[in-house]
Amino acid sequence: MGSGQVTFEGTRPADSFAGQHITVAGLGVSGLSAARALAGCGAHVTVVDGGDDDTRRQTAAVLAEEGIAVRLGDADSLPDGTGLVVTSPGWKPSSPLFAAAGVDVIGDVEVAWRLRGPDAAPWLAVTGTNGKTTTTRMLGSILRAAGLRTAEVGNIGTPIVDVVLGQERGDGATHDVLAVELSSYQLHWAPSVRAHSAAVLNLAPDHLDWHGSMAAYARDKGRVYEGNRVACVYNTADRATEDLVREADVEEGCRAVGFTLGPPGPSQLGVVDGILVDRAFVADRQRQAQELAEVADVNPPAPHNIANALAAAALARAFGVPAAAVRDGLRAFRPDAHRISHVADVDSVAYVDDSKATNTHAAEASLAAYEPVVWIAGGLAKGASFDELVASAAKRLRGVVLLGADRALIGEALARHAPEVPVVDVDRTDTGAMSAVVGAARGLARAGDTVLLAPACASMDMFTNYNERGDAFAAAVRELDSDGA
Ligand code: ADP
Repeated sequence: MGSGQVTFEGTRPADSFAGQHITVAGLGVSGLSAARALAGCGAHVTVVDGGDDDTRRQTAAVLAEEGIAVRLGDADSLPDGTGLVVTSPGWKPSSPLFAAAGVDVIGDVEVAWRLRGPDAAPWLAVTGTNGKTTTTRMLGSILRAAGLRTAEVGNIGTPIVDVVLGQERGDGATHDVLAVELSSYQLHWAPSVRAHSAAVLNLAPDHLDWHGSMAAYARDKGRVYEGNRVACVYNTADRATEDLVREADVEEGCRAVGFTLGPPGPSQLGVVDGILVDRAFVADRQRQAQELAEVADVNPPAPHNIANALAAAALARAFGVPAAAVRDGLRAFRPDAHRISHVADVDSVAYVDDSKATNTHAAEASLAAYEPVVWIAGGLAKGASFDELVASAAKRLRGVVLLGADRALIGEALARHAPEVPVVDVDRTDTGAMSAVVGAARGLARAGDTVLLAPACASMDMFTNYNERGDAFAAAVRELDSDGA
């Protein structure tokens, strides 16, 4: 986006930023997009960032040409005269920059919300501890199958400010509706967002160091339901999500809609004999049910992913999407990389990459989909306990291969809850470590088994990120394959 002024007829939402002195915290992707959008609305913008290196200086020079000031190397104090802070989502509420009394702090999602004009596309919002990206992409696919103009934004894709502002200015794509993935951080900094409908997929402890407590984390997730107009979608298997719906202040007439992997009650979506069924968005919820799709249309049809599909379907149905489009959209959906992606079959053993399972809640869901399974786990535990996860998976485990810095924690949980299960400990961190891991897994697996990389841990002890970890796994599996196995 360039430095051009936004022109609005009469009083438009963008005017609320005009003339304000705004400090943008963080020179990352969302910070840059917010800074440019706000400057374009006539605000006086200063970006602050604690880092100070060549890349940042180059960016600062470009921004200076656009009339945006940048202060590098000091993120502890607010520039004089700041009336509003716009933060990048990752900055903790306890950051010293936010300590100034009387200065509001908001995030880029809130900026996007405030920039919406009267004809802006409504938001269908998705949050939860796990499954957000998958569900948001499924939702996007369903909306497109219904012929709607949409984009997946928020925690994914093009910065949400750019998408909203592009539509307002008339130089971006026009959308009928947006599928918005919102992280707990983004929700924390977005107090006035009011979605058409929203879903909380599940709630398990995560990012507690950022939020301060489980209660604070849940409260931020629950914000997604505030002011919903048509439906608050919750997970019947996760009581905490239902509680958040109860506590939400919604528009008159907004309905609570549950999703379940079992047969649905009235006002729920669920599964009957391998069919995804809607008993919420039908004329007579007591007596009627609408078939939406088959379980086999969900890719992959693992239980947690069927839950994701039901949540996406509920949001789409809340927006009036016909049943056939749900089916077509689910069929067209392809998961993002490293989310339960089938790499290869070698010797009748399936090798599956779920490197994105970076916490115990995700790994538990993933393990529940396979039996018998050789589990590859380990990495950075981020303070997690593995007892519950190991106890729930113990019966399905053919064997376990452990890697990474905190593998001993998982090893100890296995000794407590699954002492019979063979465990191979790979004590290597070099580039060949993943080949050793996959080789060990192959040694444990029998025909018909699945070898599943679902580490339950972050990857940064050995890899740049979960993508690199998954790529290393896939490469090692392909080596097995090309060995003529
Ligand atoms: P997010 O965007 O919330 O991180 P993703 O859709 O990227 O979620 O999925 C991340 C991982 O979480 C997946 O690889 C899978 O292991 C797990 N997962 C996905 N959906 C669910 C779910 N509904 N419940 C539990 N775990 C899930």
